[in-house]
Amino acid sequence: MRVLIMGGAGFLGSHLCDHFLAKGHTVIAMDNLLTGSTANIEHLAGHSNFSFIKHDVTNYIYVEGELDAVLHFASPASPIDYLEFPIQTLKVGALGTHKALGLAKAKNARFLLASTSEIYGDPLVHPQTEDYWGNVNPIGPRGVYDEAKRFAEAMTMAYHRYHHVDTRIVRIFNTFGPRMRQEDGRVVPNFIAQALRGEPLTVFGDGSRTRSFCYVSDLVEGIYRLLNSNENDPVNIGNPNEMTILDFAKTIIQLTGSKSEVTFIQPKDVRIQDDPKVRQPDISKARRILNWQPQVPLAEGLQKTIEYFKNKV
Ligand code: UDP
Repeated sequence: MRVLIMGGAGFLGSHLCDHFLAKGHTVIAMDNLLTGSTANIEHLAGHSNFSFIKHDVTNYIYVEGELDAVLHFASPASPIDYLEFPIQTLKVGALGTHKALGLAKAKNARFLLASTSEIYGDPLVHPQTEDYWGNVNPIGPRGVYDEAKRFAEAMTMAYHRYHHVDTRIVRIFNTFGPRMRQEDGRVVPNFIAQALRGEPLTVFGDGSRTRSFCYVSDLVEGIYRLLNSNENDPVNIGNPNEMTILDFAKTIIQLTGSKSEVTFIQPKDVRIQDDPKVRQPDISKARRILNWQPQVPLAEGLQKTIEYFKNKV
């Protein structure tokens, strides 16, 4: 396959580049480097099947030659980034998805949208199944991401139904691993960096919120299987191993051997507004149709991630 990976210099995008190249495919990575970085793909420079195009996908996308698949992973993806880049987040989810679908249609290529568990908002159904419609505040700080991704899903289904583009939608739950940005504000890089520096771990609220963390190699394998399946409806990919953020903080302190303590950040902080109270993927569908489930235990994935951050902090 000749594959275009939009957002290819980001955390997930760069791991997808590695995966597709390892499987013998040709990869074109595209990124405007707003939150992505060439450091994530510099090891691929000179690879005969790899090329990089610096481009903002909210503008017309030109790619020479045939394409077999277009994967749309371009977007700011952490709550801190949405606060800093709200308009860009809306544009890449809306205009960027439209451009990407237009390209897939013109090239007669398969299209895969990186959607998100944020589709479910602060969920009233737990764990979240794909048939749950969600509980999203459109005008809150996360609304720029959530609504852009909801629009992107609607646009993807419209191109599928109306233009018969062969589309896939993956709803990605919290994922972690090397190449996350230390300063992106998400809980994994924040806690690891704080623990390695011996600073207090900043638990938002009382620490009772829950998340379920998936190691990046598991996620990438799930996405690869989804692309190669025949499923046009959304599929959750994530790790159902749910834990409270306070327990997660304790796990990070233990694995880093840090002397850090925990500090609680008050609920009025903007970073906590509309923060989903619980999150856990129901992955029955992925198990059934992709024969997929996570393989990497939390501690093992975290050790690899801690090693990565040791060189950065
Ligand atoms: N969180 C926290 N301390 C931090 C960063 C995040 O307690 O320094 C919490 C946050 O409130 C949320 C969870 O950790 O409940 C996951 O946050 P993250 O930003 O990683 O991603 P989200 O799942 O909210 O998109």
